[in-house]
Amino acid sequence: MSPQSCDVVVNSDETGRFSWAKSVPIEEQIESLYKKVEVRDPDQKEFLQAFSEVLHSLTPLFKAEPKYLAVLETIAEPERIIVFRVPWLDDRGHQRVNRGFRVQFSSTLGPYKGGLRFHPTVNLGVIKFLGFEQIFKNSLTGLPMGGGKGGSDFDPKGKSDNEILRFCQSFMTSLYRHIGADTDVPAGDINVGGREIGYLFGQYKRLMNQFEGVLTGKALNWGGSLIRPEATGYGAVYFAQNWSEDNNVPLKGARCLISGSGNVAQYTIEKLIHLGAVPLTMSDSSGYVYEPEGFTPEKLEKMMEIKNVRRGRVSDYCAAFPSSKFFTGKRPWDIQNVKYAFPSATQNEIDASDARMLAKNGCLCVVEGANMPSTNEAIDVYKQSGIILCPAKAANAGGVAVSGLEMAQNSMRTAWTREEVDEKLKNIIKSIYENCKEAAAKYGHPGDIQMGANIAGFLKVADSVIEQGCV
Ligand code: GLU
Repeated sequence: MSPQSCDVVVNSDETGRFSWAKSVPIEEQIESLYKKVEVRDPDQKEFLQAFSEVLHSLTPLFKAEPKYLAVLETIAEPERIIVFRVPWLDDRGHQRVNRGFRVQFSSTLGPYKGGLRFHPTVNLGVIKFLGFEQIFKNSLTGLPMGGGKGGSDFDPKGKSDNEILRFCQSFMTSLYRHIGADTDVPAGDINVGGREIGYLFGQYKRLMNQFEGVLTGKALNWGGSLIRPEATGYGAVYFAQNWSEDNNVPLKGARCLISGSGNVAQYTIEKLIHLGAVPLTMSDSSGYVYEPEGFTPEKLEKMMEIKNVRRGRVSDYCAAFPSSKFFTGKRPWDIQNVKYAFPSATQNEIDASDARMLAKNGCLCVVEGANMPSTNEAIDVYKQSGIILCPAKAANAGGVAVSGLEMAQNSMRTAWTREEVDEKLKNIIKSIYENCKEAAAKYGHPGDIQMGANIAGFLKVADSVIEQGCV
């Protein structure tokens, strides 16, 4: 197949063949591609949401160069999907079973790379949305990583350490044959942290009789990288810092809303405190905590102890600090007089009415620490009200970027210092910011970081797909 065959404008009939369709307006071709993807997997609503966001925001690129529409269609189909049974025994000896997934979405730029999520809401549509986003995020980092994602509908809440261990070993017993340092390198995501990566790595090593950098997020003693736990949160704040300096909206003294209480939220807050910003909130599925004067290092340390050591709830924190307030069952977007929001919990945690509330409360910039925390309707509200969106694939790329640095250190059998890794992380985030800005301006939408991220992330993958023979 010659790469020229990608220069065909997509306009598929039911036979799946494409015909040259110069006469069909590009908007119609975009909608017909959306319908084609939707018809294939009508139930995968999160994946369709992520696909629609990228597809529509690439409109200026498709107008300039329609050939890329067909390339997006190819990229939107995962190279391979692995679904498997995960049987395990609970502490009472009862037989339990969950479903495991690994979506190997794109190996165009390097080995499949992306985290594993253990959460009862996980299904194929969720893993596909995460894997699809990961392709462009990894591309933006400039490091040689393809895109993938995996996980299970296993709910670690209330499970003992032994149950987690047995589950992880069973999960890896099915997954190990599909992954490897040069094939597919999983990492953590929601509910998969250092403990789980350790159990997964140990089982992989037993099965393969091989010590290799097959997972990232490892502990320091056996191949992990300094700054990896901090990287997603720090990276989000570095991204915000680039935007803030460029637009003269200082982080110092800025009141910031943060959702979530996992490692992204924790290290976002730590870095915001370093920079003199005022992080006001943290949350989990039970509600949110508000600290009227902002979290201090001491208060954050307490929250980290509750979440990471005791595996407790954010509400437990309020007993230790009566200055704080807990809002049961609510999300933190209704606090007034704020400049920045860092949604760092999970997908779709900001809908259109939350976005209107943020606008009303003065928010100027949303920096996404979680993956796809804003619904597409919320993004429309940001646009109408002048809120700048720093989208997940750019703003939370720090985590996977340091995973890429962990892979590099493993390959070189070396370990960089904290300062070295932090410096590289800052440079990567700076160049992501610059690339997003440049791409947005080039395609006629200066300042639109969301569009810039999609265009810059996509173009690198799309051109490489063409160069590799449209595979
Ligand atoms: N789960 C993280 C993400 O969404 C990190 C993935 C990785 O380090 O491979 O980017």
